[in-house]
Amino acid sequence: MSHTQLAVLGGGPGGYAAAFLAADHGMEVTLIEQEPRLGGTCLLRGCIPSKALLHVAKVIDETYELHDDWGVSFGAPQIDLDKLRARKDKVIETMSAGLKQLAKRRNVTVIQARGKFLDSNTLELTGDSPTIPEGGKLTFDKCVIATGSVAAVPPAFQVDSDRVMDSTGALQLQEVPETMLVIGGGYIGLEMGSVYANLGTQVSVVELTDGLLPGADRNLVKPLQKRIETLFEGRLHLNTKVGSIGIRGEKVEVAFEGPGKFGTEKYDRVLVSIGRWPNTKDIGLENTKVVVDKRGFIAVNGQLQTDDPKLLAIGDVTGNPMLAHKATHEGRTAIEALLGHPVEFKPAAIPAVIFTDPEIAWAGLMEEEAKAAGREVEVVMYPWAASGRAQSLGRSDGMTKWIVDPTTKVVLGCGIVGPGAGELIGEAVLAIEMRAEVGDIAASIHPHPTLSETVMNAAEVFFGTATEIY
Ligand code: FAD
Repeated sequence: MSHTQLAVLGGGPGGYAAAFLAADHGMEVTLIEQEPRLGGTCLLRGCIPSKALLHVAKVIDETYELHDDWGVSFGAPQIDLDKLRARKDKVIETMSAGLKQLAKRRNVTVIQARGKFLDSNTLELTGDSPTIPEGGKLTFDKCVIATGSVAAVPPAFQVDSDRVMDSTGALQLQEVPETMLVIGGGYIGLEMGSVYANLGTQVSVVELTDGLLPGADRNLVKPLQKRIETLFEGRLHLNTKVGSIGIRGEKVEVAFEGPGKFGTEKYDRVLVSIGRWPNTKDIGLENTKVVVDKRGFIAVNGQLQTDDPKLLAIGDVTGNPMLAHKATHEGRTAIEALLGHPVEFKPAAIPAVIFTDPEIAWAGLMEEEAKAAGREVEVVMYPWAASGRAQSLGRSDGMTKWIVDPTTKVVLGCGIVGPGAGELIGEAVLAIEMRAEVGDIAASIHPHPTLSETVMNAAEVFFGTATEIY
């Protein structure tokens, strides 16, 4: 039977970050991944392929932006799906080959196998890869569980046809269907819906609650909802439940249970994107002391330790926010904790970005969250209509807001909607983590004319001194 000092189960951004850092600190590490390539959901069927496609969607969208009065116009785009897919796949291939090299350089042993706990010290490894040690078992001193998550597809939506897809199926881009229904108005549905809409599909969205992106700041969602309504030509069915879906010939028939839409409608494809389930079901946790909640997420403390002294857990399996950068940081904290360093995973701000057009990004405490907690905050907003850069881009629909502690003037949260919001939020994360005061941001000279100025301008609004330089 093989033995390793540290086993890491799952080769996604949480797992490989933990494995690499542990190896950098001199640990003997074995990384177990069931797929032939490292990278996990994020690289193979999540963050990276979706953004490769969204970039193309953005290029198409921008050509539509250019009206006659801009003095330039384009014809209808010619879409070559094979090339589009090949480019996306090349990005993935380049990066996963890079991960393989990084693992090799650190002497991390990579085993391609499906791992299952037999007890708190032993993993059973199954598969047909020659990397699996003889006997198919691996014992360890400690193990980090980083098995991630899968798309949630409840039994009512489980249809044996590739016309009903989850995000992985949608990313395969088999065709540009004439019509597509996205079930769920969360970020994955809106991002993938935007890709297909820009490629020419008539996309509809059905969402159970009364607005897109449930849980996100309403001021930020408003401009996006307006633009999405235009892109999807009004086919946005809010407050509406899907009762059932079934295959009728070449179409998918969907029954709506209102009040936003009633009756049945047929679509060429349906994308089910209603959330994600943790991969904690069939990994033998019942043979360990690990405790999971009723949704299957693993309970951990600030050092990412589970209730089993031998096992730690990181990433999507530990719950929301299910984001790659949260997984990576948890992975790093888990290893630091194992090394005995005084660390705790307690970030003041985990940024979230929706890569739609416009982008939405936020970090730290949000207005609704503060209200719900009964916490007094001051909220300041700067509309991008006053930004020379936004106007020159023809994008005055953006907005930047700060959430500030009225007593200490420390910034607690930031929200941005507009093109490039995901790039701008980094500054806010740093400010929140460093407990910057709103005056620090207002006093920091930002380059002109840039969208980053709006971060400073919103801070100036706090003092009633926002200066518009056009
Ligand atoms: P994962 O990346 O899911 O990796 C887990 C790995 O464990 C997988 O490779 C899996 O094969 C392996 N595994 C599971 N069980 C076993 C087993 N028993 N034995 C061996 N191996 C096993 N996040 C962002 O931050 N930004 C984005 O823009 C973004 N976009 C996304 C778009 C889409 C379409 C999707 C689906 C997700 C997106 N995410 C995004 C979320 C992000 O992908 C996840 O939060 C992130 O991948 C979680 O990392 P992880 O390491 O916890 O798990």
